[in-house]
Amino acid sequence: MESKQQTTCESLVSLAALQERVRCLFRLRQLPEKTRRTILLNTTADKPELGLETRSPKLWMPERVLFTPAALAEPWGQQILERVESLNLPIEELRQNRLTGLRGDSERETYDKSKRTLAVVNAPPSTFKLSPIPPSADWQFHLAEGCPAHCQYCYLAGSLSGPPVIRVFANLPQILANLAAYETSQATSFEVSCYTDPLGIEHLTGSLAECIRYFGTRESGHLRWVSKFDAVDDLLDLPHNGHTRCRLSVNAAPVSGRFEGGTASVTSRLMALRQLALPRSQGGGGYPVGLVIAPIMPVEDWEEHYTRLFDQISDAIAFDCDLTFELISHRFTPGSKEVLQTWYPHTKLDMDESKRSVKRNKFGGTKYVYDPDTMKRLRRFFESEIARRFPKARVLYWT
Ligand code: SF4
Repeated sequence: MESKQQTTCESLVSLAALQERVRCLFRLRQLPEKTRRTILLNTTADKPELGLETRSPKLWMPERVLFTPAALAEPWGQQILERVESLNLPIEELRQNRLTGLRGDSERETYDKSKRTLAVVNAPPSTFKLSPIPPSADWQFHLAEGCPAHCQYCYLAGSLSGPPVIRVFANLPQILANLAAYETSQATSFEVSCYTDPLGIEHLTGSLAECIRYFGTRESGHLRWVSKFDAVDDLLDLPHNGHTRCRLSVNAAPVSGRFEGGTASVTSRLMALRQLALPRSQGGGGYPVGLVIAPIMPVEDWEEHYTRLFDQISDAIAFDCDLTFELISHRFTPGSKEVLQTWYPHTKLDMDESKRSVKRNKFGGTKYVYDPDTMKRLRRFFESEIARRFPKARVLYWT
């Protein structure tokens, strides 16, 4: 009985795998030639052995693409339209500039609907007044709001309101032109990943590449972005002039495997980082790069799991390059916990306030972080592993 059940399960698994392959091949045929070549190269290129299987680059395909009239009036909006048309995605031109009809009968349904929807809109005037974003960068700006992935700890839950539809901005040239006013004669850094994963939507927008090209022309402006996706080939040849630091966010297997739905595997992210960091003479992008290890969690046997992650990083980046680390321990706010619990009602994410220390900010906001002893132990481990394995790398901050 057991072996019959097992055989049935195996057949179902291989049928599902076959269906997934057919779906992938069909989607591949719809992609522009360059992207298609990238995918094929990525699946066959010579790669270091990182101890885990890699997957093809993760490309999100929305089920609906909405355009507002204002977005369609923008040349950059037209450029996005051409991209989504070439992918045969279902497009709806709205009559008004407001997005409506995104809510379902429950919060979970609203979430499902929204996360399958791309809306191309113009950034509102408020986004032209930039805010500082310590410790990551001097300023933040946005090319989109919302992310197609499904991380159960997602920090966007506490920062964006309304249905989590992925809004991308059609007035990008104006957004970029506005940044010059914030540059000084000193190096000035701009973070573009606070409200989105810019690489996760890049095949639909081309906006990250445009930002990289823009910063490549600046005297003192520097761009920073971070991602959990891996389709970087179209970024490798851009004239970045060393003014963009590309970072990949990684985590230990129990955290990424359990909580990071819809993202590229950590191994694929490391392969992407390797490609970005390799010198141009070796087919890479020659970018300054970074790893954001976040959110760090003291899960069972955490030292062992994070040691394995460092082994993978050492294998992927076994060459000299401009490398930084950012170390962020897990935290949550009352607001983010409430939203995350409606999005992921069955989550196993530990958000028990009684096991945490409270940290208050100057505006009276509350965050729940690990207790001081746990923080000390984690910090000591990460800083010493990095110092030992990557003596030339800089740790930008621990938080
Ligand atoms: S990749 Fe980042 S922004 Fe996207 S769901 Fe995960 S944590 Fe949120």
